Amino acid sequence: MPNVYKRLTNRLLYLPLWATMAVFYTTNVSAQSHCPRALSLDLAAITAEAVCLAQRYIQIDTTNPPGNETAAVDFLAAFLAQEGIPITRLEAEPGRANLYARLRGDGSKKAMMLVHHMDVVPADADVWTEPPFAGLVRDGYLWGRGSIDNKGPGIMEVLSFVLLKRLEIPLKRDVVLLAVADEEQGGGKGARFIAEKHFEMIADVEFALNEGGVMLELGENKIRYGVEFAQKAPLWLEISAQGVQMHGSRPSPAAATHTLIRALAKLEQFKFPIVVTDAVQTVFSARAAAMPPAARAPYQNLLKALDDEKFRDEFMGNANNARLVRNTLAITTLAGSAKENILPARATAVLDLRLLPGQSPDDVIDELKRAIDDPAINIRPILSSKSYAAPIDTELFRAIGELVGRYDPGAQVVPNFISGFTDCNIFRAKGITCYGFMPMRFPLTDFHFVHGRDERFSTTELGRGALLLHELVRDMVSD
Ligand SMILES: [Zn+2]
Repeated sequence: MPNVYKRLTNRLLYLPLWATMAVFYTTNVSAQSHCPRALSLDLAAITAEAVCLAQRYIQIDTTNPPGNETAAVDFLAAFLAQEGIPITRLEAEPGRANLYARLRGDGSKKAMMLVHHMDVVPADADVWTEPPFAGLVRDGYLWGRGSIDNKGPGIMEVLSFVLLKRLEIPLKRDVVLLAVADEEQGGGKGARFIAEKHFEMIADVEFALNEGGVMLELGENKIRYGVEFAQKAPLWLEISAQGVQMHGSRPSPAAATHTLIRALAKLEQFKFPIVVTDAVQTVFSARAAAMPPAARAPYQNLLKALDDEKFRDEFMGNANNARLVRNTLAITTLAGSAKENILPARATAVLDLRLLPGQSPDDVIDELKRAIDDPAINIRPILSSKSYAAPIDTELFRAIGELVGRYDPGAQVVPNFISGFTDCNIFRAKGITCYGFMPMRFPLTDFHFVHGRDERFSTTELGRGALLLHELVRDMVSD
Protein backbone atom coordinates (compact mmCIF):
# COMPACT_ATOMS: atom_id res chain seq x y z
CA MET A 1 0.00 0.00 0.00
CA PRO A 2 2.01 3.02 -1.20
CA ASN A 3 -0.10 5.58 0.68
CA VAL A 4 0.39 3.91 4.00
CA TYR A 5 4.06 3.54 3.27
CA LYS A 6 4.35 7.25 2.44
CA ARG A 7 2.48 8.18 5.53
CA LEU A 8 4.83 6.13 7.67
CA THR A 9 7.85 7.64 5.97
CA ASN A 10 6.49 11.12 6.58
CA ARG A 11 5.93 10.36 10.21
CA LEU A 12 9.51 9.19 10.65
CA LEU A 13 10.99 12.15 8.80
CA TYR A 14 8.87 14.70 10.55
CA LEU A 15 8.74 13.29 14.03
CA PRO A 16 9.85 16.46 15.87
CA LEU A 17 7.33 18.57 13.95
CA TRP A 18 4.59 16.07 14.63
CA ALA A 19 5.46 16.02 18.29
CA THR A 20 5.34 19.80 18.67
CA MET A 21 2.09 20.11 16.74
CA ALA A 22 0.30 17.24 18.37
CA VAL A 23 -1.97 19.37 20.53
CA PHE A 24 -2.83 21.60 17.61
CA TYR A 25 -3.64 18.55 15.47
CA THR A 26 -5.95 16.88 17.90
CA THR A 27 -7.85 20.05 18.71
CA ASN A 28 -8.16 21.67 15.31
CA VAL A 29 -7.33 19.55 12.35
CA SER A 30 -7.63 15.93 13.36
CA ALA A 31 -8.91 15.09 9.88
CA GLN A 32 -5.89 16.60 8.16
CA SER A 33 -3.37 14.66 10.18
CA HIS A 34 -4.49 11.61 8.22
CA CYS A 35 -3.59 13.12 4.88
CA PRO A 36 -0.29 11.91 3.44
CA ARG A 37 2.25 14.65 2.78
CA ALA A 38 4.11 14.84 -0.56
CA LEU A 39 7.76 15.71 0.00
CA SER A 40 8.84 15.67 -3.63
CA LEU A 41 7.31 16.04 -7.07
CA ASP A 42 6.34 12.38 -7.03
CA LEU A 43 3.01 12.10 -8.86
CA ALA A 44 1.63 9.30 -6.68
CA ALA A 45 2.45 11.19 -3.48
CA ILE A 46 0.95 14.43 -4.77
CA THR A 47 -2.16 12.63 -5.95
CA ALA A 48 -2.64 10.96 -2.57
CA GLU A 49 -2.34 14.26 -0.73
CA ALA A 50 -4.53 16.18 -3.21
CA VAL A 51 -7.32 13.61 -3.10
CA CYS A 52 -7.26 13.43 0.69
CA LEU A 53 -7.39 17.22 1.09
CA ALA A 54 -10.11 17.60 -1.54
CA GLN A 55 -12.24 14.96 0.20
CA ARG A 56 -12.12 16.93 3.41
CA TYR A 57 -12.72 20.20 1.61
CA ILE A 58 -15.87 18.80 -0.03
CA GLN A 59 -17.11 17.59 3.35
CA ILE A 60 -17.41 21.21 4.47
CA ASP A 61 -20.83 22.27 3.19
CA THR A 62 -20.40 25.72 1.64
CA THR A 63 -23.66 25.78 -0.30
CA ASN A 64 -24.35 29.37 -1.33
CA PRO A 65 -26.70 30.68 -0.08
CA PRO A 66 -25.83 30.94 2.78
CA GLY A 67 -22.18 30.13 1.89
CA ASN A 68 -20.66 29.60 5.33
CA GLU A 69 -17.20 29.91 3.77
CA THR A 70 -15.65 30.67 7.17
CA ALA A 71 -15.66 26.92 7.88
CA ALA A 72 -13.70 26.36 4.66
CA VAL A 73 -11.27 29.13 5.62
CA ASP A 74 -10.74 27.42 9.00
CA PHE A 75 -9.86 24.20 7.21
CA LEU A 76 -7.43 25.80 4.74
CA ALA A 77 -5.91 28.02 7.44
CA ALA A 78 -5.18 24.99 9.64
CA PHE A 79 -3.52 23.18 6.76
CA LEU A 80 -1.42 26.23 5.83
CA ALA A 81 -0.49 26.77 9.50
CA GLN A 82 0.85 23.24 9.58
CA GLU A 83 3.11 24.28 6.67
CA GLY A 84 4.23 27.42 8.48
CA ILE A 85 2.24 29.76 6.22
CA PRO A 86 0.22 32.46 8.01
CA ILE A 87 -3.02 33.70 6.51
CA THR A 88 -5.16 36.80 6.66
CA ARG A 89 -8.93 36.53 6.94
CA LEU A 90 -10.95 39.10 5.07
CA GLU A 91 -14.50 38.87 6.27
CA ALA A 92 -17.30 40.61 4.39
CA GLU A 93 -19.81 39.62 7.08
CA PRO A 94 -20.04 36.95 9.78
CA GLY A 95 -19.65 33.49 8.24
CA ARG A 96 -18.46 34.88 4.90
CA ALA A 97 -14.67 34.94 5.21
CA ASN A 98 -12.08 35.03 2.43
CA LEU A 99 -8.54 33.68 2.83
CA TYR A 100 -5.39 35.45 1.74
CA ALA A 101 -1.83 34.10 2.02
CA ARG A 102 1.43 35.25 0.48
CA LEU A 103 4.85 33.70 -0.07
CA ARG A 104 7.56 36.32 -0.38
CA GLY A 105 9.88 36.49 -3.38
CA ASP A 106 12.98 38.60 -3.93
CA GLY A 107 10.87 41.40 -5.43
CA SER A 108 12.57 41.37 -8.83
CA LYS A 109 9.22 40.66 -10.53
CA LYS A 110 5.62 41.51 -9.72
CA ALA A 111 3.39 39.08 -7.84
CA MET A 112 1.41 36.15 -9.19
CA MET A 113 -1.90 35.00 -7.70
CA LEU A 114 -3.79 31.72 -7.55
CA VAL A 115 -7.46 32.27 -6.90
CA HIS A 116 -10.39 29.90 -6.41
CA HIS A 117 -13.84 30.09 -4.86
CA MET A 118 -14.88 28.10 -1.80
CA ASP A 119 -18.66 28.27 -2.18
CA VAL A 120 -20.70 25.74 -4.14
CA VAL A 121 -24.16 25.65 -5.69
CA PRO A 122 -26.89 23.64 -3.93
CA ALA A 123 -27.08 19.86 -4.37
CA ASP A 124 -30.28 17.86 -3.96
CA ALA A 125 -29.13 14.75 -2.07
CA ASP A 126 -32.34 12.92 -3.03
CA VAL A 127 -31.40 12.73 -6.69
CA TRP A 128 -27.68 12.03 -6.24
CA THR A 129 -26.28 8.49 -6.46
CA GLU A 130 -23.82 9.27 -3.63
CA PRO A 131 -24.25 11.80 -0.83
CA PRO A 132 -23.06 15.16 -2.26
CA PHE A 133 -21.01 16.18 0.79
CA ALA A 134 -19.36 12.87 1.68
CA GLY A 135 -16.30 13.29 -0.55
CA LEU A 136 -16.32 9.61 -1.56
CA VAL A 137 -13.76 8.15 -3.92
CA ARG A 138 -15.16 5.51 -6.25
CA ASP A 139 -14.09 4.13 -9.64
CA GLY A 140 -11.31 6.67 -10.03
CA TYR A 141 -13.56 9.63 -9.31
CA LEU A 142 -13.82 11.97 -6.36
CA TRP A 143 -17.54 12.47 -5.87
CA GLY A 144 -19.20 15.51 -4.42
CA ARG A 145 -20.56 18.99 -4.90
CA GLY A 146 -17.60 21.20 -5.68
CA SER A 147 -15.29 18.38 -6.82
CA ILE A 148 -14.91 20.17 -10.19
CA ASP A 149 -16.39 23.56 -9.33
CA ASN A 150 -14.23 24.60 -7.55
CA LYS A 151 -12.83 22.68 -4.60
CA GLY A 152 -10.83 20.08 -6.57
CA PRO A 153 -9.05 22.78 -8.59
CA GLY A 154 -8.84 24.83 -5.36
CA ILE A 155 -6.81 22.06 -3.79
CA MET A 156 -4.62 21.91 -6.90
CA GLU A 157 -3.86 25.58 -6.25
CA VAL A 158 -3.34 25.18 -2.51
CA LEU A 159 -0.99 22.26 -3.00
CA SER A 160 1.03 23.84 -5.80
CA PHE A 161 1.39 26.91 -3.55
CA VAL A 162 2.40 24.90 -0.49
CA LEU A 163 4.93 22.88 -2.52
CA LEU A 164 6.81 26.11 -3.31
CA LYS A 165 7.41 26.53 0.42
CA ARG A 166 7.87 22.88 1.24
CA LEU A 167 10.49 22.40 -1.48
CA GLU A 168 12.13 25.74 -0.61
CA ILE A 169 11.91 27.13 -4.15
CA PRO A 170 13.58 30.57 -4.40
CA LEU A 171 10.97 33.02 -5.71
CA LYS A 172 11.39 35.99 -8.04
CA ARG A 173 7.73 36.91 -7.60
CA ASP A 174 5.61 36.94 -4.49
CA VAL A 175 2.93 34.29 -4.82
CA VAL A 176 -0.54 35.05 -3.45
CA LEU A 177 -3.13 32.41 -2.65
CA LEU A 178 -6.66 33.76 -2.52
CA ALA A 179 -9.67 31.61 -1.62
CA VAL A 180 -12.83 33.63 -2.05
CA ALA A 181 -16.42 33.43 -0.92
CA ASP A 182 -19.60 34.03 -2.85
CA GLU A 183 -18.56 33.44 -6.47
CA GLU A 184 -21.78 31.61 -7.25
CA GLN A 185 -23.81 34.68 -6.23
CA GLY A 186 -21.75 37.28 -8.06
CA GLY A 187 -18.80 37.75 -5.68
CA GLY A 188 -20.17 40.63 -3.58
CA LYS A 189 -18.86 38.99 -0.38
CA GLY A 190 -15.80 37.58 -2.14
CA ALA A 191 -13.76 38.81 -5.11
CA ARG A 192 -15.75 42.02 -5.48
CA PHE A 193 -15.45 42.75 -1.75
CA ILE A 194 -11.68 42.26 -1.94
CA ALA A 195 -11.31 44.33 -5.11
CA GLU A 196 -13.34 47.17 -3.56
CA LYS A 197 -12.30 47.10 0.10
CA HIS A 198 -8.87 45.43 0.26
CA PHE A 199 -7.34 46.00 -3.15
CA GLU A 200 -4.07 47.22 -1.62
CA MET A 201 -3.35 43.60 -0.64
CA ILE A 202 -3.25 42.45 -4.27
CA ALA A 203 -2.40 45.70 -6.04
CA ASP A 204 1.06 44.37 -6.99
CA VAL A 205 -0.35 41.24 -8.69
CA GLU A 206 0.54 41.08 -12.38
CA PHE A 207 -0.88 37.65 -13.25
CA ALA A 208 -3.65 35.51 -11.81
CA LEU A 209 -4.92 32.01 -12.55
CA ASN A 210 -8.50 31.01 -11.79
CA GLU A 211 -11.19 28.56 -12.93
CA GLY A 212 -12.74 28.88 -16.38
CA GLY A 213 -10.42 27.04 -18.75
CA VAL A 214 -9.43 23.40 -19.01
CA MET A 215 -7.83 20.95 -21.39
CA LEU A 216 -10.73 19.70 -23.45
CA GLU A 217 -10.66 16.17 -24.77
CA LEU A 218 -12.23 16.49 -28.19
CA GLY A 219 -12.01 12.78 -29.03
CA GLU A 220 -9.61 10.96 -31.38
CA ASN A 221 -6.76 11.93 -29.06
CA LYS A 222 -7.30 15.60 -29.88
CA ILE A 223 -6.77 17.89 -26.91
CA ARG A 224 -7.44 21.60 -26.90
CA TYR A 225 -6.23 23.75 -24.02
CA GLY A 226 -8.52 26.72 -23.65
CA VAL A 227 -7.16 29.74 -21.81
CA GLU A 228 -10.09 31.93 -20.85
CA PHE A 229 -9.13 35.58 -21.28
CA ALA A 230 -12.52 37.22 -21.79
CA GLN A 231 -16.09 36.52 -20.85
CA LYS A 232 -19.52 37.97 -20.96
CA ALA A 233 -20.62 40.14 -18.07
CA PRO A 234 -23.84 39.39 -16.19
CA LEU A 235 -26.50 42.06 -15.95
CA TRP A 236 -29.38 40.92 -13.78
CA LEU A 237 -32.45 43.12 -13.88
CA GLU A 238 -35.65 43.14 -11.92
CA ILE A 239 -38.51 44.27 -14.10
CA SER A 240 -41.71 45.22 -12.36
CA ALA A 241 -45.20 46.49 -13.14
CA GLN A 242 -47.27 48.53 -10.74
CA GLY A 243 -51.07 48.33 -10.67
CA VAL A 244 -53.99 48.40 -8.29
CA GLN A 245 -54.93 45.32 -6.32
CA MET A 246 -58.15 43.91 -7.77
CA HIS A 247 -60.50 40.98 -7.46
CA GLY A 248 -59.75 38.18 -9.91
CA SER A 249 -63.36 38.21 -11.07
CA ARG A 250 -62.95 41.75 -12.43
CA PRO A 251 -59.80 41.68 -14.60
CA SER A 252 -58.39 44.74 -16.30
CA PRO A 253 -55.58 45.23 -18.85
CA ALA A 254 -54.03 47.63 -16.30
CA ALA A 255 -53.48 44.80 -13.78
CA ALA A 256 -49.83 44.53 -12.81
CA THR A 257 -49.53 40.92 -13.99
CA HIS A 258 -51.07 41.73 -17.37
CA THR A 259 -48.88 44.79 -17.88
CA LEU A 260 -45.80 42.77 -16.99
CA ILE A 261 -46.65 39.96 -19.37
CA ARG A 262 -47.08 42.34 -22.31
CA ALA A 263 -43.61 43.73 -21.57
CA LEU A 264 -42.09 40.26 -21.23
CA ALA A 265 -43.61 39.17 -24.53
CA LYS A 266 -41.77 42.06 -26.22
CA LEU A 267 -38.53 41.16 -24.46
CA GLU A 268 -38.81 37.51 -25.43
CA GLN A 269 -38.90 38.58 -29.08
CA PHE A 270 -36.16 41.20 -28.65
CA LYS A 271 -32.90 40.53 -30.46
CA PHE A 272 -29.68 42.37 -29.67
CA PRO A 273 -27.59 43.36 -32.70
CA ILE A 274 -24.70 41.15 -33.82
CA VAL A 275 -21.35 42.53 -32.62
CA VAL A 276 -17.90 41.03 -33.20
CA THR A 277 -15.67 42.28 -30.39
CA ASP A 278 -11.87 42.16 -30.60
CA ALA A 279 -11.88 39.36 -28.00
CA VAL A 280 -14.23 37.23 -30.06
CA GLN A 281 -12.27 37.86 -33.25
CA THR A 282 -9.13 36.72 -31.38
CA VAL A 283 -10.84 33.44 -30.48
CA PHE A 284 -12.01 32.72 -34.03
CA SER A 285 -8.65 33.69 -35.55
CA ALA A 286 -6.99 31.15 -33.23
CA ARG A 287 -9.55 28.47 -34.10
CA ALA A 288 -9.16 29.23 -37.82
CA ALA A 289 -5.47 28.39 -37.55
CA ALA A 290 -6.43 24.79 -36.78
CA MET A 291 -8.94 24.52 -39.66
CA PRO A 292 -8.25 23.27 -43.17
CA PRO A 293 -6.95 26.25 -45.22
CA ALA A 294 -10.06 26.36 -47.44
CA ALA A 295 -12.37 26.86 -44.43
CA ARG A 296 -10.37 29.59 -42.69
CA ALA A 297 -11.18 32.80 -44.55
CA PRO A 298 -14.57 33.74 -43.01
CA TYR A 299 -13.31 33.23 -39.45
CA GLN A 300 -10.35 35.51 -40.02
CA ASN A 301 -12.72 38.45 -40.56
CA LEU A 302 -15.89 37.37 -38.87
CA LEU A 303 -17.74 40.68 -38.99
CA LYS A 304 -17.38 40.87 -42.75
CA ALA A 305 -18.29 37.20 -43.18
CA LEU A 306 -21.48 37.69 -41.17
CA ASP A 307 -22.72 40.11 -43.83
CA ASP A 308 -23.20 37.09 -46.05
CA GLU A 309 -26.64 35.66 -45.39
CA LYS A 310 -25.76 32.03 -46.03
CA PHE A 311 -22.71 32.12 -43.75
CA ARG A 312 -24.63 34.08 -41.12
CA ASP A 313 -27.47 31.54 -41.00
CA GLU A 314 -25.01 28.69 -40.68
CA PHE A 315 -22.90 30.45 -38.03
CA MET A 316 -25.83 31.71 -35.95
CA GLY A 317 -27.50 28.32 -36.25
CA ASN A 318 -24.85 27.04 -33.84
CA ALA A 319 -25.96 28.29 -30.41
CA ASN A 320 -22.37 28.24 -29.09
CA ASN A 321 -21.33 30.65 -31.84
CA ALA A 322 -24.43 32.84 -31.60
CA ARG A 323 -23.86 33.52 -27.88
CA LEU A 324 -20.42 34.96 -28.64
CA VAL A 325 -21.60 37.67 -31.02
CA ARG A 326 -24.62 39.10 -29.27
CA ASN A 327 -25.92 39.90 -25.81
CA THR A 328 -28.44 37.37 -24.54
CA LEU A 329 -31.53 37.80 -22.43
CA ALA A 330 -33.28 35.12 -20.36
CA ILE A 331 -36.42 35.58 -18.26
CA THR A 332 -35.60 33.53 -15.19
CA THR A 333 -38.05 34.26 -12.34
CA LEU A 334 -41.66 35.41 -12.19
CA ALA A 335 -43.71 36.58 -9.24
CA GLY A 336 -47.28 37.78 -9.02
CA SER A 337 -50.11 37.10 -6.65
CA ALA A 338 -49.93 34.59 -3.84
CA LYS A 339 -53.69 34.02 -4.10
CA GLU A 340 -55.70 32.56 -6.98
CA ASN A 341 -58.41 35.23 -6.98
CA ILE A 342 -56.39 38.39 -6.32
CA LEU A 343 -54.73 40.48 -9.00
CA PRO A 344 -51.64 41.82 -7.19
CA ALA A 345 -50.64 45.46 -6.92
CA ARG A 346 -47.17 44.52 -8.14
CA ALA A 347 -45.75 41.83 -10.42
CA THR A 348 -42.07 41.18 -11.02
CA ALA A 349 -39.74 39.16 -13.19
CA VAL A 350 -35.97 38.77 -13.24
CA LEU A 351 -33.95 38.98 -16.44
CA ASP A 352 -30.54 37.36 -16.72
CA LEU A 353 -28.65 39.21 -19.43
CA ARG A 354 -25.12 38.43 -20.53
CA LEU A 355 -23.28 41.31 -22.15
CA LEU A 356 -20.37 41.23 -24.57
CA PRO A 357 -17.13 43.04 -23.64
CA GLY A 358 -17.37 46.80 -23.98
CA GLN A 359 -21.17 47.00 -23.71
CA SER A 360 -22.48 49.53 -21.22
CA PRO A 361 -25.19 48.25 -18.83
CA ASP A 362 -26.86 51.69 -18.85
CA ASP A 363 -27.10 51.71 -22.66
CA VAL A 364 -28.55 48.21 -22.62
CA ILE A 365 -31.18 49.17 -20.05
CA ASP A 366 -32.15 52.18 -22.21
CA GLU A 367 -32.43 49.86 -25.21
CA LEU A 368 -34.81 47.58 -23.30
CA LYS A 369 -36.90 50.52 -22.07
CA ARG A 370 -37.35 51.65 -25.68
CA ALA A 371 -38.34 48.15 -26.74
CA ILE A 372 -40.93 47.87 -23.93
CA ASP A 373 -42.21 51.41 -24.43
CA ASP A 374 -44.49 51.45 -21.38
CA PRO A 375 -44.13 53.95 -18.49
CA ALA A 376 -45.88 51.49 -16.12
CA ILE A 377 -42.80 49.25 -16.28
CA ASN A 378 -39.83 49.76 -14.01
CA ILE A 379 -36.34 48.29 -14.47
CA ARG A 380 -33.93 47.97 -11.55
CA PRO A 381 -30.42 46.44 -11.78
CA ILE A 382 -29.74 43.65 -9.25
CA LEU A 383 -26.26 42.87 -10.51
CA SER A 384 -24.52 45.04 -13.03
CA SER A 385 -21.05 44.64 -14.43
CA LYS A 386 -18.98 45.32 -17.48
CA SER A 387 -16.77 42.78 -19.21
CA TYR A 388 -13.00 43.24 -19.57
CA ALA A 389 -10.63 41.20 -21.73
CA ALA A 390 -7.08 40.32 -20.63
CA PRO A 391 -4.15 40.70 -23.05
CA ILE A 392 -2.88 37.39 -24.47
CA ASP A 393 0.60 38.40 -25.59
CA THR A 394 2.04 37.75 -22.13
CA GLU A 395 4.66 35.77 -20.25
CA LEU A 396 1.95 33.67 -18.58
CA PHE A 397 0.24 32.76 -21.86
CA ARG A 398 3.61 31.70 -23.27
CA ALA A 399 4.41 29.70 -20.12
CA ILE A 400 1.12 27.80 -20.54
CA GLY A 401 2.09 27.06 -24.17
CA GLU A 402 5.47 25.72 -23.04
CA LEU A 403 3.92 23.55 -20.33
CA VAL A 404 1.54 22.08 -22.87
CA GLY A 405 4.38 21.55 -25.33
CA ARG A 406 6.24 19.47 -22.74
CA TYR A 407 3.30 17.29 -21.69
CA ASP A 408 1.10 17.17 -24.79
CA PRO A 409 3.21 17.97 -27.81
CA GLY A 410 0.90 18.76 -30.71
CA ALA A 411 -2.02 19.84 -28.54
CA GLN A 412 -3.57 23.17 -29.39
CA VAL A 413 -3.46 26.11 -26.94
CA VAL A 414 -6.17 28.66 -27.73
CA PRO A 415 -7.47 31.83 -26.12
CA ASN A 416 -11.04 31.18 -25.06
CA PHE A 417 -14.06 33.42 -24.58
CA ILE A 418 -16.83 32.11 -22.33
CA SER A 419 -20.46 33.10 -22.08
CA GLY A 420 -20.60 32.41 -18.33
CA PHE A 421 -18.77 34.54 -15.77
CA THR A 422 -16.07 34.03 -13.20
CA ASP A 423 -14.23 36.21 -10.69
CA CYS A 424 -11.51 36.89 -13.28
CA ASN A 425 -13.59 39.71 -14.71
CA ILE A 426 -13.48 41.51 -11.36
CA PHE A 427 -9.69 41.29 -11.25
CA ARG A 428 -9.32 42.26 -14.93
CA ALA A 429 -11.31 45.41 -14.23
CA LYS A 430 -8.53 46.31 -11.77
CA GLY A 431 -5.75 45.74 -14.32
CA ILE A 432 -4.69 42.22 -13.30
CA THR A 433 -4.06 39.82 -16.19
CA CYS A 434 -6.32 37.01 -14.99
CA TYR A 435 -6.71 33.81 -17.00
CA GLY A 436 -9.16 31.00 -16.53
CA PHE A 437 -6.84 28.03 -16.86
CA MET A 438 -6.33 24.86 -14.87
CA PRO A 439 -4.09 22.14 -16.33
CA MET A 440 -6.63 19.35 -16.01
CA ARG A 441 -8.02 17.12 -18.72
CA PHE A 442 -11.69 17.18 -19.10
CA PRO A 443 -13.75 15.04 -21.46
CA LEU A 444 -16.61 16.96 -23.05
CA THR A 445 -18.99 14.36 -21.60
CA ASP A 446 -18.12 15.46 -18.05
CA PHE A 447 -19.35 19.02 -18.54
CA HIS A 448 -22.85 18.28 -17.31
CA PHE A 449 -21.43 17.47 -13.85
CA VAL A 450 -20.68 21.17 -13.30
CA HIS A 451 -23.62 22.48 -11.23
CA GLY A 452 -25.32 19.16 -12.07
CA ARG A 453 -26.21 15.90 -10.41
CA ASP A 454 -23.45 13.48 -9.35
CA GLU A 455 -20.64 16.03 -9.81
CA ARG A 456 -17.33 14.16 -9.81
CA PHE A 457 -13.74 14.68 -10.84
CA SER A 458 -11.09 12.21 -11.95
CA THR A 459 -8.61 11.59 -9.10
CA THR A 460 -5.84 11.07 -11.68
CA GLU A 461 -6.48 14.52 -13.11
CA LEU A 462 -6.65 16.07 -9.66
CA GLY A 463 -3.16 14.81 -8.82
CA ARG A 464 -1.72 15.46 -12.26
CA GLY A 465 -3.31 18.90 -12.29
CA ALA A 466 -1.72 19.80 -8.95
CA LEU A 467 1.69 18.74 -10.24
CA LEU A 468 1.34 20.57 -13.58
CA LEU A 469 0.00 23.71 -11.94
CA HIS A 470 2.95 23.69 -9.53
CA GLU A 471 5.26 23.40 -12.52
CA LEU A 472 3.52 26.27 -14.32
CA VAL A 473 3.72 28.53 -11.27
CA ARG A 474 7.33 27.55 -10.78
CA ASP A 475 8.13 28.48 -14.39
CA MET A 476 6.63 31.89 -13.71
CA VAL A 477 8.22 32.63 -10.36
CA SER A 478 11.67 31.08 -10.34
CA ASP A 479 14.62 30.86 -12.72
ZN1 LIG B 1 -16.98 27.93 -10.22
